[in-house]
Amino acid sequence: MRPSPASIGDRYGRLVIVDAAPSRGHHRRWVCRCDCGTVKAFDQGNLRAGASKSCGCIKREQNAEGSFSFTHGMTGSPEYRAWSGARTRCYNENADSYADYGGRGIVMCERWTSFEAFYEDMGSRPSAEHSLDRRDVNGNYEPSNCRWATRAEQAQGRRSTVLTWDLINEIRGRHEHGEPRISIAKRLGVRSARVSAVVRNRIWKEAA
Ligand SMILES: [Zn+2]
Repeated sequence: MRPSPASIGDRYGRLVIVDAAPSRGHHRRWVCRCDCGTVKAFDQGNLRAGASKSCGCIKREQNAEGSFSFTHGMTGSPEYRAWSGARTRCYNENADSYADYGGRGIVMCERWTSFEAFYEDMGSRPSAEHSLDRRDVNGNYEPSNCRWATRAEQAQGRRSTVLTWDLINEIRGRHEHGEPRISIAKRLGVRSARVSAVVRNRIWKEAA
């Protein structure tokens, strides 16, 4: 029996097909988006055979972490994707979101190097509406700072978080000490427009 053709939306490991790519010779190819955000074309044969499971970020994580367990059988589950997405944001300098996480010094606790430990602490995602959330957005990925929360719950938490004001104070402090806005933005992982707004005391418009 011939396998049915791959199609848009199919998932292979961390890769999800988003578009058809021009074929190379007689190799059918697909544009895939990796869970880490990278978009790249892959041979259909390699996707099917399990030879292509990520943009290369799995290997990078393995190299970075030394050991990595594939024994849990949950690769591809929402919990696994939440965990690996968070690791990517903290440790993959090539990821778009790195600047807001790893670039700001946000890390994942030692214990969560293992997905099993993460899953043991966090449990199953309660519903498809829930995603991994940090109570303190300037804090690390660790049991005391993480929860599964809906978008609405996350938005609420963000509005009332005291640490947002800590960040604002830090921006003001650095500005008063003469640090250039660009440098502040880069150091703290904040958009420079936002730094300017803070400096001009217009932040309440955004923080409200
Ligand atoms: Zn990737």
